[in-house]
Amino acid sequence: MTCPSVNVRDYHTMSDYYEKVKIELQQMKAPGEAAETEAAAEQQQLSPASESSVSADVSLTSRRDISRSSINERSRSKSRSKGDGHERQVNGRQVSDLTVAGIYRVSNEQNLQVKGTGKIFKAKSAANGQVESCQRQTEEKCEHQEDGSKVGKKRRPVTVDSSKAKTSLEALKLSIRQLKWKEFPIGRRTACDIYWHGVSFHDNENIVSGQVNKFPGMIEMLRKINLSRAVRTMQELFPEEYNFYPRSWILPEEYQLFSTQVRLLKDNDSTLKPTFIVKPDNGSQGDGIYLIRDPADLRVISGSQVKQAVVQEYIQKPLLIDKLKFDIRLYVLVRSLEPLEIYIAKEGLTRFCTEPYQEPSQKNLSHVFMHLTNYSLNVHSGNFVHSDSCNTGSKRTFSSVLYRLGSKGVDIKKVWSDIIALVIKTVIALVPELKVHYQADIPPGKPGPTCFQILGFDILLMKNLKPILLEVNSNPSMRIEHEQEVSPGVFEYVPSLVDEEVKVGVIRDTLRLMDPAQRKQYGVTNLGDGSPENAIVVDAESDEKEGLADSLPSLCLKQVFPKYTKQFNYLRVVERIATIFLRFLGVKGTMRLGPTGFRTFIRNCKLSNSSFSMASADILYIDITRRCAGTLPDSREAGMGLQAFIEAFFYLAARRFKALPLREQLVSLLEVCETSLDGQGHGEKPRPHRSHTNANPASAHYSAPPTLNSPALTRRHQYHRWHQPLQPSAKGNADN
Ligand code: ADP
Repeated sequence: MTCPSVNVRDYHTMSDYYEKVKIELQQMKAPGEAAETEAAAEQQQLSPASESSVSADVSLTSRRDISRSSINERSRSKSRSKGDGHERQVNGRQVSDLTVAGIYRVSNEQNLQVKGTGKIFKAKSAANGQVESCQRQTEEKCEHQEDGSKVGKKRRPVTVDSSKAKTSLEALKLSIRQLKWKEFPIGRRTACDIYWHGVSFHDNENIVSGQVNKFPGMIEMLRKINLSRAVRTMQELFPEEYNFYPRSWILPEEYQLFSTQVRLLKDNDSTLKPTFIVKPDNGSQGDGIYLIRDPADLRVISGSQVKQAVVQEYIQKPLLIDKLKFDIRLYVLVRSLEPLEIYIAKEGLTRFCTEPYQEPSQKNLSHVFMHLTNYSLNVHSGNFVHSDSCNTGSKRTFSSVLYRLGSKGVDIKKVWSDIIALVIKTVIALVPELKVHYQADIPPGKPGPTCFQILGFDILLMKNLKPILLEVNSNPSMRIEHEQEVSPGVFEYVPSLVDEEVKVGVIRDTLRLMDPAQRKQYGVTNLGDGSPENAIVVDAESDEKEGLADSLPSLCLKQVFPKYTKQFNYLRVVERIATIFLRFLGVKGTMRLGPTGFRTFIRNCKLSNSSFSMASADILYIDITRRCAGTLPDSREAGMGLQAFIEAFFYLAARRFKALPLREQLVSLLEVCETSLDGQGHGEKPRPHRSHTNANPASAHYSAPPTLNSPALTRRHQYHRWHQPLQPSAKGNADN
């Protein structure tokens, strides 16, 4: 294993750390390939990956013995490669996903092989609890062997239900083992502290306590259309701040708009040859994606159905390494919505294309290995390089790429801080809708779990080093193995050390941050001065008490919010609109506002007057709700959703504060509403979400007014500024 290592503990922030790397790099004498080889050796001490390299050591010893599973070509299925399969063939026998980690069931007679021990245990039935008890004995034994001695009086181990973990199971098992927590692989009759779901919040129904690793509504929010909508609303308000997301059009509803804008653009400058990438709304792993240069090439219809998709400006000049396009997968933990808490993993993955990049031309538009960085596609190219090293091959650690860029003089501290800003702004764009889902699924005051979630951010660096958001995955792959064809038609699952290095660290440290005992301690400290650095200190203390300090590395997750509240809180304008929406929605588990609720909003916020009667409010409600129902794929539930409410709010703001720029209009109307509602006491207010007991109103609430220096903007008239701005829209203001 040649993973680089460094002790990041000595630095206050990742930026400090990367700055230090940069200085050391500047001191190097000879750049170029020779220096790179040297640098690779030096990386052993320098790279941020070392935080998780300790974990890799712990886990690697236990992974060497994994019995490799040969898989017949016939048994390979799309669903399995997508990571959702429950069952697969091992040596021709059916094997459940339960066997993937920690314990390997090597035959259908349910023998259990414990990784790292070579021991095989017999069990009669997975369903009658025998497997579980067998595992418990094994784990206890392992604990003694690893520890050497007994640790004094221990608190009850944290319990984790892993029965729905699916493809994250192996990484989860390794993490639980490192923490010496207790796993319940087939679930438990009594409640667990943590439920690890492989797909959605609803994987286990009726959870009334504990914590679930998924937020309700996250899958829906991160579908390509909804993400584009959420970011677009922010782009309208904060065009400069949100120019990290490529300009996008939603199909089929914006087909005409897209065609018209491209035509205007080309008419204006005939030398321009923009390329666009078309992505199916619910696609993943590059499925169904294609590039076009002319709107006429859009494949809008599939059979008799109109395809829901996003068509997006294609970034033509990505940064290349070894002439190859690559993208970055970063793991982000949303630890809580209220107060908003965001962590970023210091280590991520980079996925490389397998054909040298050329700017798009009519000839190469269909070359997926040149234009799409998806691992799931490139792994099928003859050029894909599997490597156990973190800084070679078609999948590498992010730190190794940063290090390499640093050695070429790139300001990696700036790259990293731009990425942090991108992540915070994106989460801020998602929060309003997420809060609506949260309140609908877990109404305040009713028993329910709290939620957290690891998201996978896919980021592209442009040639000028500007990070661009490609998409956010609600279920980033946590597989730590990959398939390898060992002879024609025969595939093996083999450990992927690069994946393990990164992913086990992310899961383990997410668990550490969600440890119920640690959360209590964290809460007290964080209420004290709001300093996230304290959280890290508390972590270390907490681990030390448990006797884990020697074996666990410091956290690989770095808090970025509320740490950077001051810099980003002014962006949380739409969240304030959502807070008003939630207040009138009530706590009945619905996500739509009825006409009476909308009237109450108008009345209680004192928005009706001689020029805007209650009858006008009714017409506004009907008009906007109807229009939004036509554009939303899931409009079964009647009523006004948040998007429609935001439209109505923009309309009301524009009416009332005509002379002001858009943001100022909104902020002024928010102040009118909030003042009116504050005067009415707290009777109607929904209580805060129970994500945390230490709700910090200062961080949850908009605190500083935005700098209002943008030109006057009118919703739907304004077009996002971008590095290659398109012409203003031909579409009229639908609100007029
Ligand atoms: P999927 O969910 O199917 O992976 P993505 O949005 O991640 O869809 O796109 C797949 C790949 O296409 C990305 O990994 C990236 O390599 C490429 N890609 C996506 N959007 C753009 C874009 N706007 N410009 C350039 N390349 C892009």
